[in-house]
Amino acid sequence: MNFCPQCGTKIVASWNVCPNCGHNLKSERLYQQPTQAQISAQTYSQQKPQDQHYNYRPRSNNTNGIVALICGLLGLFGVLPIVGSIIGIVLGAVGKRNDDDPRMAKAGLVIGIIGIVVWIAFYIYLFAFIFMMFRYIPD
Ligand SMILES: [Zn+2]
Repeated sequence: MNFCPQCGTKIVASWNVCPNCGHNLKSERLYQQPTQAQISAQTYSQQKPQDQHYNYRPRSNNTNGIVALICGLLGLFGVLPIVGSIIGIVLGAVGKRNDDDPRMAKAGLVIGIIGIVVWIAFYIYLFAFIFMMFRYIPD
């Protein structure tokens, strides 16, 4: 609670002028007598952002799993070969622990591993084919 330095009337901190004597309150420093209610109110307002942060947490969060599944499929079908599969595996592993519903993350992880295996097999086949081609080139 603040008090007018001129007449001692109780005033609210946001007031510019004392309602009793008309003293300009913004021009001078007010002497303050903080009450227990003010201190607890300050403590409450300091704790409030943490509560709000906690409340902002979405109830259903499957973002990792959704992205893992999409990237895993893109990796498997050659839109983002290897890279998509790696993202699918990484986000799938993250989502399996963090997502509220880990089924999509697990699917993304599995599809990512299949994509890696398929594309590594494809590249081995491709290099083997190229190697064979060079072997059969006549001198
Ligand atoms: Zn006053």
